Amino acid sequence: MKKILPVYIILLSVLACSPTNLEKPPKLVIGIVVDQMRYDYITRYWDDLSPNGFKRFYKEGFVAHNHHFNYYQTLTGPGHASISTGTTPSVHGIIGNEWYDRKSKKEVYCVGDNDVEGLGSATKGRKSPKHLITTTFADQFRLHTQFRNKVIGISLKDRSAILSTGHSANAAYWFAGGDEGVFTTSTYYMDSLPNWVSEYNAKKYPHQYASSVWNTLRPIETYTASGPDDTPYEGIYKGADRPTFPYDLSTLSPDYYKDKGLDIVRNTPFGNTLVTDMALLALAHEDLGKDDQTDVLMISYSSTDHVGHQFGLTAIETQDTYLRLDLELERLFSEIDQMVGMDDVTLFLTSDHGAVHVPKYLNDHNFPGGHDKSKGIKDQVNQVLFSKTGIDNLVLHIGNDQMYLDHEQIEKNRLHLDELAEEAIRVILRFSTIEKAFKTVDVPQLSPSEKLHNLLLRGNHIKRAGDVYMIPKPGHIDYGHTGTTHGTGFSYDTHAPLLMMGRGIKAGHTFEETSITDIAPTMCALLGTAFPNGMTGNVISKALLKADK
Ligand SMILES: [Zn+2]
Repeated sequence: MKKILPVYIILLSVLACSPTNLEKPPKLVIGIVVDQMRYDYITRYWDDLSPNGFKRFYKEGFVAHNHHFNYYQTLTGPGHASISTGTTPSVHGIIGNEWYDRKSKKEVYCVGDNDVEGLGSATKGRKSPKHLITTTFADQFRLHTQFRNKVIGISLKDRSAILSTGHSANAAYWFAGGDEGVFTTSTYYMDSLPNWVSEYNAKKYPHQYASSVWNTLRPIETYTASGPDDTPYEGIYKGADRPTFPYDLSTLSPDYYKDKGLDIVRNTPFGNTLVTDMALLALAHEDLGKDDQTDVLMISYSSTDHVGHQFGLTAIETQDTYLRLDLELERLFSEIDQMVGMDDVTLFLTSDHGAVHVPKYLNDHNFPGGHDKSKGIKDQVNQVLFSKTGIDNLVLHIGNDQMYLDHEQIEKNRLHLDELAEEAIRVILRFSTIEKAFKTVDVPQLSPSEKLHNLLLRGNHIKRAGDVYMIPKPGHIDYGHTGTTHGTGFSYDTHAPLLMMGRGIKAGHTFEETSITDIAPTMCALLGTAFPNGMTGNVISKALLKADK
């Protein structure tokens, strides 16, 4: 017995020791990104949510209440790339939805790629992840399984489907509106659309939604978490008189066909229904979650963003879009229960950025804010630089709160970039909408202890950035007086939900700060894969089940 006992103990400890904290990793990881979703949408709409949509995460899963984007600029492309890569624009390189390219003297779209062709769409398909510099957690899953698993991304937006999945995805599908109304992909991923996608496209659901009526899901008087239906802060559909329910889309569509066509579906909750349809078809037809090679399905719901941009934060239209999305989640979860089983699936839900209250609404309630944060800056700086140098148009471009100066002209005329950037900053700071300005070359020396500096450090990709950062005051945007936008490092843009549930996730919650870059390493920890190659986030270990449970 004396001899047997140590062997027995060693055997027990080996059995208790598995390579990850899970005996069996999930068969499927599903990431849900709700475009422009603020953290407080769940708390504001709580009483009207169903028990099995968003609330299912609160019942069964882990909730990070103090979850933030940890970089400047909070936009869709950078958001999806940061979720998937576990790092920030300074490393993954997606500094905006588009950015100015000095070589071509044009804006580069974050997923634009003229070396590939579209499949299923004549005009909207030439996209790939070629501008993404680092790997994603799904890429690491592909490497880990010797490419035996599947990774698929689905969204209305091309950049959301592509950047959330990565370089080695089997497929990314996005919506081509206009006069097409189809889900498309590119030759980066495959040679032809799968039958299940073509068959779904042939059903022409977008055409049906574009001529349907959008009314509130529940009696309109119950939408007490929102303002009145008719306010001056909401954008009006072309062809409508007022921003009020019900919207008979068939009467709007003729106007929309002139410039938007079937893209009108994006600006209604029905766009999200199309995305759920596609996600469920992918689950069924691609056999996701059917074996031990962990698959990844990234689903990004974009209608919330389009509706938010048009109607703002306090609109009944926005609340209705979330109540309907809640039911989409319920439909999705119930199908997952049946098709794979929640015990074999790990889910997370987050957002790609927040949004600010409509500044006019803030002003009308005595809050500071404004709509024209950078209006006139380019002209004014160009005038001052012309008076100093005799050279016109030294400011080439303003975008993503950055100013790009003309390096070619500056070199040709033997001027000093540094001095011109400093002169530009002096002019920029005269504008009442701008709070601070920095030379890009100074950003690496900024103290990371100040929040804004830290966000700039993490957002700044020196080869793609401009020469000067222009930081607005809170509540200031470049946008019309109706609807809203996002992009800054203020908490209204950085605070997002993070909800997780399913295999390997412990029920609980935290108010400690977590970052958008923590999601990818946490998913890798479930499988014990290598981390994405540029990862700077941390594993949220308190959300993970312990090995002994
Ligand atoms: Zn977005």
